[in-house]
Amino acid sequence: MKLSEIYKSQKAPVFSFEVFPPKGENLKKKVENLFIELAKMNEQKPALISVTYGAGGSNKNTSLEIVKELTNHLKQPVMPHFTCVCSSREYIENYIKEIEQMGITNILALRGDEPLDIDVCYRDFKSAIELIEYLRKHSELEFAVAAYPEKHPRAKSLEDDILVLYKKQELGAKVAYTQVFFDNDCFYNFFDKCTDAGVKIPVIPGVMPITSFKQLKRIVELSGTKIDRKVFEYFEKYENSKEDTIKAGVEFASKQTQKLLEFGVLGMHFYTLNKAKSSLEVIKNIT
Ligand code: FAD
Repeated sequence: MKLSEIYKSQKAPVFSFEVFPPKGENLKKKVENLFIELAKMNEQKPALISVTYGAGGSNKNTSLEIVKELTNHLKQPVMPHFTCVCSSREYIENYIKEIEQMGITNILALRGDEPLDIDVCYRDFKSAIELIEYLRKHSELEFAVAAYPEKHPRAKSLEDDILVLYKKQELGAKVAYTQVFFDNDCFYNFFDKCTDAGVKIPVIPGVMPITSFKQLKRIVELSGTKIDRKVFEYFEKYENSKEDTIKAGVEFASKQTQKLLEFGVLGMHFYTLNKAKSSLEVIKNIT
């Protein structure tokens, strides 16, 4: 099913789950575990499963392998993420052909961040817009794009960032998924500004139920994502208890998503970190 059809019906919230291709040691076991988790996610019948991609093609083979396996085994549409940064035109052409041959119909089109450990960085495609322009001319794929309620670090202002999102829409993007955020007010402000700027495609919030304080600290430190001091301290309190942190993460994400649905978003994109439990509990709490 194509993205435009998935988000056409506005009767029930559209839930999508993001996973990443496992890497490193014990790969076989990690992939098996991912499939176990995906089988659990499947019980909730997500509208789609998205699969992340290592910028510069660092995990191309595992990513494609996972995408292929998922496409063969899941009923839900599988949407690979794809980043164009540092990749040659030829590489991009081949990749797109390959996923279309697998029967994939949707892609999350991204620029990506330049990897630090790369020998040659091609400059054939410099932004998501350039990738999108290629996709619309040379493929049948429908494409989703990224959005940043707290502004992309490279953008001069939130308004400039929204102009880029508007341009992506005008070039055919069907839906935008946001960067993870914990402060709904940022999203409401962003959403209203998007509407004022003429963005009409669904803007779907990216929600991550916290499962460890270390992970929360890293997100806040790396991306500068805003989080209420009290919420941060709340998670800090449970730093030494995984079970309590997971419970608190579900509780926080359930409240957050409930409010977002009341605000009127069409769906929710769950950053699952390859674990089904918390996202499924959140959905159970809000539906
Ligand atoms: P672009 O849209 O090209 O640029 C991002 C912003 O930078 C623009 O909105 C614009 O404001 C500004 N900008 C762009 N070009 C210029 C310019 N020339 N001058 C000034 N400002 C400019 N990364 C991965 O590596 N793999 C993934 O699987 C992945 N999945 C993601 C999924 C989601 C839902 C999101 C939100 C992000 C994801 N990312 C992923 C991260 C993403 O690759 C980075 O945020 C990257 O820095 C920007 O990609 P983009 O497609 O938004 O780029």
